[in-house]
Amino acid sequence: MEHSIAIERVVNIPTNRKRGEHLLVKAVVLSCVDPGFKEPFKALMRHLEFRSADFDHLGWAGGAKGLVDPGAPLLKQISTLVKLHHVPEVILMTHSDCGAYGYPKFPDENQEHEFYANELRRAGGELMKFLSEENLAPKVSAYHLDFVGAVRIF
Ligand SMILES: [Zn+2]
Repeated sequence: MEHSIAIERVVNIPTNRKRGEHLLVKAVVLSCVDPGFKEPFKALMRHLEFRSADFDHLGWAGGAKGLVDPGAPLLKQISTLVKLHHVPEVILMTHSDCGAYGYPKFPDENQEHEFYANELRRAGGELMKFLSEENLAPKVSAYHLDFVGAVRIF
């Protein structure tokens, strides 16, 4: 058979897993895609002692906000990953000055943390309700990334 498409290998590197093998996934992590918060994200994952191969990373504009947006396709996506990879934990994140929240401004850091904590509690509640209807009960935790690092919400 003749092939009309020329396929050129451009990268040579082994994957983390072999064909048919499955890695132990410790968590599904949902965070915003904002590249400005990659460093606190990476530092938080190091602090939690997760290597990049340890978790399923879902990037979504607004992070945890995607769980309460109309339609909320992320709820189904997370339940699929929890089932498929037998994931014991889901980690939700938000970050300061997030465009998906309309770049909200606050008079001080406490009020900013309280705003995002309420958003994360609301998103976590929606997620736990959805997952319990599918008889899934992973641990759900939440963190907020700010301009100087990360804080634990629950
Ligand atoms: Zn964002």
